This record gives sequence, structure tokens and C-alpha cells, in this order.
Amino acid sequence: MAHADPHLRVGVDLGGTKTEAVVVRLGGDAPEVVARRRIPTARDLGYEHIVLQTCALVRDVASDAGVADLPPVGVGMPGSRTRDGRVKNSNTTCLNGMPFEADVVRALGREVTFANDANCFALAEATWGASRGARVSFGVILGTGVGGGVVLEGPAGRPRAWEGAQGIAGEWGHVTLEPRDGPPCYCGRRGCVETYLSGPAIERAYEERSGARLGLPEIAVAATRGDDVARALLDERVEVFGRALATVLDVLDPDVVVLGGGVSNLDVFYERGAAAVARWTFTDVLATKIVKHALGDSAGVLGAALLP
Ligand SMILES: [Zn+2]
Repeated sequence: MAHADPHLRVGVDLGGTKTEAVVVRLGGDAPEVVARRRIPTARDLGYEHIVLQTCALVRDVASDAGVADLPPVGVGMPGSRTRDGRVKNSNTTCLNGMPFEADVVRALGREVTFANDANCFALAEATWGASRGARVSFGVILGTGVGGGVVLEGPAGRPRAWEGAQGIAGEWGHVTLEPRDGPPCYCGRRGCVETYLSGPAIERAYEERSGARLGLPEIAVAATRGDDVARALLDERVEVFGRALATVLDVLDPDVVVLGGGVSNLDVFYERGAAAVARWTFTDVLATKIVKHALGDSAGVLGAALLP
């Protein structure tokens, strides 16, 4: 067994389909992943099982890394928490209403730091990735849902995720654009940003308008090959992106906006997205950079390791 290394952290990304854990050594120019494990999230086996599975994964990955004393642990997961510490708005629905954080802490026998998965993404990209060096950055996940996280430069230049008064800072996906006529959202309102800009929302709109079912990458290709429905749809969604992101820029005025998730792989959001944002932002020259993620799928779990 190695002696205790003060730079080691455990990060856990509790996703809807998979749960990943890493042991990372901090302090360098890039994250040094010492051990990594990935398992399917057993959402069908119920709440208690997910609590135990998460704790077992933490112990196993620490054992893989050869550490005797468990390093500080951070967990990133979708959703937010209520004032009394219960999970809210998670797409792993058996967690909703449950005191997941307290139960993991009790089962693990030590403190754990929790955050929203979009905050973890934004934090990792600001520390090691595409928004590194920014004083203020906004990380956006355009995936199965739409989430966001605000990261501010902290003491000693170390980026920190800004949680906000009720833990919803950066929850841009549920800003309502068309409260009367927009598509219904699971949050109970209509016309949230998520109902226009998530991957499934774009795929569903394409199917409704064309009668054909295509995946997001195929829709992007079709738009460049004379498919008028695909082209008009992406033009429209880039415009929505610009209008919605402009509301963030007008309030936060970040140095960098970094995009992640499946929709962020569509070039059109960089080619024409920045111009659309500029049209709707209260400025004559747009200084904010809009950039693609640099850490890929690992950003969530690496960001979780940066929490404690
Ligand atoms: Zn909503």
C-alpha cells in the first residue's frame, strides 16, 4: 500500500445509464487518472441498491489505486436538492425525494461533496479544458437534457463552481422561452430551453416535420446535403440557442461559454451560433468566446473529483 497522497481525490459521475468513478491526482497541469471504473447504473433495482452500489464503487476504485485511506470524495449527479437535502429533478427517478447524500455519507462513513453534473462539467473544463484561464465561465450541457454551470475564479486562481442561494445557479435549461405555446417540459412548464435544444427535442422535431426518424448526427449531415427540413430546423434551433444564451450573457457576461453533450458536436452551433448570440446580446462586439468541450465524456467525473 502506498502512503497517503494529499493530492488524490475520488470522483464519481452518477449518470442515468452508467456510473463512473476515478481516482485522480490533482496539482499537475493535466488530470492524472490513477484508477477508473465504470458500471451500469442499476436504476431498476431501486434506491437502496444505488446507494450501496455507489459506495462499493468508491471503495473498489480506491482499492484499484492502491490507497489504504479513502481520499476525499466528490459526486456529480443530475438534478438538484431540496432545502432538507432530498434529491429533486433527477432523471434517475427512484432518487427523487430521497436523502441520497446523507445515506451515501452514512454508508461510506465519511464526508462527501455533491454537485449537479453540469457544474462538474463546467468545473473540469475551467480547470483543465476549453475554458481554462477564464475568470468567469459558463458550461452548458446540450445532451439528453440541457444543464449549465457557472464557474468563477477562486482563491489562488483555482476555479470553483458557483452553487447559488438555492443550488440552481446555471440551470439554464429551464429558462422559459415560450410559456404559452412551447413544447411541454417535464418540469411542468412549457417552452423551456431544454424543449428546443436537447438532442431528443431536435430529433423529435425533425420526425414531426419530415415523418422520418433520424439521429442527431444524421440530421446534421442531411442539412448539408439538401434536406430542407433539416436545414430549416437547425437554422431555427441555432437562433433559439442565440436568443437563450444571450440572456445568460446579459446577466453574467462570462469570458467563455463551453459547450458539451451530443448537440455540442454539431459544427453549426459554432459556425453560426456565435453570430446568433451576438445578435441578441446587449453589446456591439461579442468578446465572449463560445467553444467546444476539450475533455470529452470524462469532464463530469473529473469535475466531481475537483469538488472536495
Ligand atoms: Zn422545464
